[in-house]
Amino acid sequence: MSPRVIQMPLSGGDRKHFARELRRVESLHAEFVKRVDAAYAAAKDQLRLAHRLECEEWNARLFLGGDEAPSPALADAIDAGATLLKVKCNACRATRRVDLTHVIWPRKNQVHTLRPKLFCEPCKVTTDHKVRPMPVGLFDPNPGPEATAKAVRRRNGPGASRILYRCLTAARFEQSERPRSMQPHFLERPATRSRGNMPRRSCS
Ligand SMILES: [Zn+2]
Repeated sequence: MSPRVIQMPLSGGDRKHFARELRRVESLHAEFVKRVDAAYAAAKDQLRLAHRLECEEWNARLFLGGDEAPSPALADAIDAGATLLKVKCNACRATRRVDLTHVIWPRKNQVHTLRPKLFCEPCKVTTDHKVRPMPVGLFDPNPGPEATAKAVRRRNGPGASRILYRCLTAARFEQSERPRSMQPHFLERPATRSRGNMPRRSCS
């Protein structure tokens, strides 16, 4: 679409007034463009915060022994930065982290729908049964020094028992992992891999 041609009035007074209005609306339009960008950026930040809180709510619910459904969608967890799904095998008590960005699974699906596709490989070898691991929670691979220091401070301070799950999830998470050689291997095996439901590999 070509730009509209503005016909300037010929008379002096109308012409000056029209020119002033053009300049005023031009600056107004530039301001609107900035405000729209800022509003969308703020909305995006708030949406990311909502996704983050949803992941933390799910972690807390799992820690309390609640139902694993509903859970955050893969896309929401990835948007929140909680890209690691920690699972635990109840048979051999080993834990393993699943990187959601590498999982071939529809991003709109909820995280707990992955569970039927995961199994503990050492238990499969030893018992010939597919043991489904239990989800423990969603975690940020890079929580940042502030979050780690805060979790340690809370762990050592008053009310430590109430925030035990936070200590487990944030500060001690990296340290409590077993050596990689001792960890089982949970494989992701989607039911179908047709072109129609192939998700994006990354959600950046
Ligand atoms: Zn196992």
